[in-house]
Amino acid sequence: MRTDVPPLLHAYARPAADRSSYVDIVAGDGAEVVDAAGRRYVDALGSLWYCNVGHGRAEIADAVAEQMRTLEVFHTFDRFTNPAADAVAERLAGLAPMPDTRVFLTSGGSESVETAVKLARIAQHWAGHPERTVVVSRRPSYHGVTYAALTATGLAANQQGFGPLLPDVVQVPYDDLDALDHLGPEYEGRIAAVIAEPVVGAGGVYPPPEGYFAGLRERCDRWGAFLIVDEVICGFGRLGQWWGAQHFGVRPDLVTFAKGVTSGYLPLGGVLVGAAVREALEADEAAVFRHGYTYGGHPTVAAAALANLDLLEKEDLIARAPAIGERLGAGLGSLVDGTDVVGHRGTQGIWAIELAEGLSANAVRDALLGHGVIARPIGTSALAYCPPLVVTDEQMDRCVEGTRRAIADVRAGRSGA
Ligand code: PMP
Repeated sequence: MRTDVPPLLHAYARPAADRSSYVDIVAGDGAEVVDAAGRRYVDALGSLWYCNVGHGRAEIADAVAEQMRTLEVFHTFDRFTNPAADAVAERLAGLAPMPDTRVFLTSGGSESVETAVKLARIAQHWAGHPERTVVVSRRPSYHGVTYAALTATGLAANQQGFGPLLPDVVQVPYDDLDALDHLGPEYEGRIAAVIAEPVVGAGGVYPPPEGYFAGLRERCDRWGAFLIVDEVICGFGRLGQWWGAQHFGVRPDLVTFAKGVTSGYLPLGGVLVGAAVREALEADEAAVFRHGYTYGGHPTVAAAALANLDLLEKEDLIARAPAIGERLGAGLGSLVDGTDVVGHRGTQGIWAIELAEGLSANAVRDALLGHGVIARPIGTSALAYCPPLVVTDEQMDRCVEGTRRAIADVRAGRSGA
């Protein structure tokens, strides 16, 4: 056993990495964070694609403290509720990209995807279609790490070694509508739901082709399947509207959300449940939905969400996404030279660059730390950018210039931070 590793077993990390390899983040304000040595970084990925209002917002801290003093927590199973959980559900139902929505609350993205898959299956079952159990997802895509979410996730590397996955999940290329029409006769009449991210995020930052979501909607309607739009990254302003579904003009049946709903200040996720699913759930007066997480409807978490939604609204932060596209997207595009950077992709507030073969995304990320920017490798050859919506022009320019220098460092064999 190693003695030079920290007690904290990190997510998506090498368990054998020694203590010295960690970057110790101790503070943050706006679109910047500070490490234990006092070095400042532009938080180019909004922590993990979520810090939409930026770090250090006293409004959220105050709302949380106040709720903690009144009712820190009580559960919402069965007949119990609390004002904060009710208020956040009402607020989210009002913002939803489809009418007549109810809101199920979880503690994060994976739980939300898990919930949406179970909702789709139980709603089909209760509506008299128990044969509709198949979930269609895309490749690449990212939907989380619990078994249903992991099975839906279209990244083979994430699934290797974890044993049998969820049955009845089938994947199609993320940009190919025709593939949906050729799933094979064994899937005929058996589709419960299709799940799709508006822009594929952690799976590589891939916007859909023109007309893609209209095509998904049309097929779901034809099959009697529910359309689950996974808004865990795109929700709450990333694409310049509250929801990615609005950006692409599609009406979902179920929406999964997390991250930006609190800007990550406290862990919250959930599912917006549209009319078609509701009808199946509410039809039988006596039927119980036997599903729920201990912390769903946590009032202190809900208070953080309400304060975060206030900030997004009052400061009109969602309107910042196009400006991020114009400055950061264009800046990253200017790095494309065919030699070191072979492409860039994204839209609005979410971007990636594709590095040339032989340039490791991890190495560039490490060198970029030395230039005061935290970006995130996705796969082995791409770097992602998804900054807080409060990011300034100067900070975006630092992301671009830092990336240019980091690539030069790696090419020159200079080591990173
Ligand atoms: N869906 C999407 C689209 C995501 O981006 C993520 C997380 N990056 C998840 C689901 C899983 O969320 P969590 O990590 O909170 O479980």
